[in-house]
Amino acid sequence: MKILFASSEAHPLVKTGGLADVSGALPRTLRNLGEDIRLVLPAYRSLLERVPNPVPVARLTLGGGQTVRLLRTLLPGTRVTTYLVDHPPAFDRPGNPYLGPDGQDWPDNADRFALFARVLVELARDRCGLDWQPDLVHCNDWQTGLVPALLSLEPDRPATLFTIHNLAYQGLFDGATLGRLGLPPEWWSMHALEFHGRLSFIKGGLVFADWLSTVSPTYADEICSPEFGFGLDGLLASRRDRLSGILNGADYDQWNPGRDPLLPQHYNRRSLAGKAACKAALQRRFGLDVRPDRPLFGHIGRLVEQKGIDLILAAVPQLLERQVQLVVLGSGEARFEAALRQLQAATPGQVGVEVAYDEALAHLIEAGCDGFLMPSRFEPCGLNQIYSLRYGTVPVVHAVGGLADTVVDASPTALREQRATGFQFHGASLANLVQAIDRALQAWARPDLWRQLVTTGMRQDFSWKRSAGRYAELYRTLTTPEAVAERRHG
Ligand code: ADP
Repeated sequence: MKILFASSEAHPLVKTGGLADVSGALPRTLRNLGEDIRLVLPAYRSLLERVPNPVPVARLTLGGGQTVRLLRTLLPGTRVTTYLVDHPPAFDRPGNPYLGPDGQDWPDNADRFALFARVLVELARDRCGLDWQPDLVHCNDWQTGLVPALLSLEPDRPATLFTIHNLAYQGLFDGATLGRLGLPPEWWSMHALEFHGRLSFIKGGLVFADWLSTVSPTYADEICSPEFGFGLDGLLASRRDRLSGILNGADYDQWNPGRDPLLPQHYNRRSLAGKAACKAALQRRFGLDVRPDRPLFGHIGRLVEQKGIDLILAAVPQLLERQVQLVVLGSGEARFEAALRQLQAATPGQVGVEVAYDEALAHLIEAGCDGFLMPSRFEPCGLNQIYSLRYGTVPVVHAVGGLADTVVDASPTALREQRATGFQFHGASLANLVQAIDRALQAWARPDLWRQLVTTGMRQDFSWKRSAGRYAELYRTLTTPEAVAERRHG
């Protein structure tokens, strides 16, 4: 089976969030399982700086006259063939893949990712001279949303799978964009790409892909309801029989406290002494009182309302009252960055803040904390709570999406059955968060119980292998001779 995996970011070449983690780890795992899976990424300037000698393999001219070079490389540390779509006017610019230096979306994002989609269609139809015809194109998020739509116009096309990593990001543009991009006028319909008077890239995937998936079973249910559906719940509910929830995996090669090179000391569930050393190192790093007897909670994430950073900020007085220490690592909206900086200045020794994107520090926080706060209002999958589990850092989470699917609440029954791994709360409010923190602190006060939570969490296996197997199964279902015949005859 040949699979073309299309994404706008992939670790370790370019990353703004969890999509990059998936787009790096899933192709690598599937490749190791023997699948012929190839990755396609835009050749951003920052990405090309990380790829020493990409090989030019094709040059094509698109319908609009743009010329594009395809470069080939391997995703670093893997055997995954990776094609880079090189069109300097679209991708040779500084900074973030989606945002300009002013923090606003690049004004030509529609054109940039439409071009990316058109190149993907050429690759999918083997019209680039590579002599490689994929059976299935796996698209991810709105940046690749036009691919299933454009492929639907092609005879004998490969199967399409569209994965939703976060429904909040939809790729919405003004109505004139449809014509400017040369898309069929009949797509200006609520049954195609129109969404309340705007052009929606994500609808290209949601409407036209043969199958949909999202990154946890609970999120798959949630997005079919108005509360989590961002106006797309009706469409998603109508396709519920073709929507799977497959949990993301963690990359335990990178996230393993037993041999993480970014930690001052290693540890595992049989020998936790190294974790105490990591806690002391983290307290020192943030200028906190170096006290093993103070519970230390952490948070890492994009500073946006989705992640509930406002709830964490609001909970600080209660945390301080309870002698809890807090460290936060994040970057994002200016108002949250400012509030965090202010907080740090006001509470030296008790709260540590780093406004940055810092992989190495993220590892030390996962290792050095006792508890990890994830009060996300919605969370398609979430990775940090999965890392926390492996690092023996007990997660306190809002019971939504992937958080509900990965953390087992410390109910009396789950504790008795030694299944509990953390604390869930229902309803994203300050009171509910604080109540869950209080339950965690009661458990912390009982060292045997806490240790049981820690070691049960560390035993959980959310490796990519299992999730990748589910994707491989789905790929097979979508490419059986019957499925191919069904597509051919509409
Ligand atoms: P999302 O994709 O919504 O941002 P996820 O939990 O799925 O959230 O993935 C976030 C990824 O980005 C994780 O690997 C997390 O460790 C990382 N991350 C987020 N913010 C930071 C930061 N400020 N510094 C380091 N890593 C971060």
